[in-house]
Amino acid sequence: MNRITIAIDGFSSCGKSTLAKQLAQHLGYVYIDSGAMYRAVALFVMENGLVVDGRLDEDGLLGELDGIDIRFQHDPMTDKSATYLNGRNVEQEIRTLEVSNHVTLVSPVPEVRAKLVKLQQAFGREKGVVMDGRDIGTVVFPDAEVKLYMTARPEVRAQRRFHELRLKGSDVSFAEVEANIHQRDLDDTTRKADPLTKAADAIEIDNSDITAEQQFRKALDIVLGVLAQVGQE
Ligand code: C5P
Repeated sequence: MNRITIAIDGFSSCGKSTLAKQLAQHLGYVYIDSGAMYRAVALFVMENGLVVDGRLDEDGLLGELDGIDIRFQHDPMTDKSATYLNGRNVEQEIRTLEVSNHVTLVSPVPEVRAKLVKLQQAFGREKGVVMDGRDIGTVVFPDAEVKLYMTARPEVRAQRRFHELRLKGSDVSFAEVEANIHQRDLDDTTRKADPLTKAADAIEIDNSDITAEQQFRKALDIVLGVLAQVGQE
């Protein structure tokens, strides 16, 4: 059967990764979390003194960029794929609110985007990939056969992220999570380089009032419809 590329974009905490993982597992495709790559760069600048008084030392980052190695590898402890930054498993660290609060310092930098987009395109060269992010259907894979654009009301997204962080043992407050989501929505949609926008040919799914299972069924129907068409070409 022909393999396709599935691009899933949308705001923060919209359930993109849940859906992307479900689709990838069902179809036997590779799942790539592009946000994890930006988070890894954010962790790098935090750990290397490249954020001073809340500001990014952009020249400093550009000087280090070639030496930043980000890859996804199997983690034998969890038996899952994990994000590695310069050989270190950072899967847990990149999910903290602190990293979420620093990520939009690095994601607007064109050189960072160019590096990560190139890597993402290489991951998808063989097709059979589900990738989620902000610019996947617009920049990374403009020819993706399926493009989904996820939305949900901000308060629903904040509640979900808050719940998720609390389950992981974090003592963040709801107000902090809500503020981060609000700020990232603003930063991601207003930056100059590859802002979050809905691709003209993307199908929008608002999941505020549906379950993850209902969302999966909806998306799978779309994907199977496209696969049937592609199979006949
Ligand atoms: O998807 P996630 O919330 O983990 O993404 C973290 C951040 O990485 C986003 O808020 C955004 O600034 C950046 N990002 C991006 N382009 C992508 C994926 C994520 O700019 N394709």
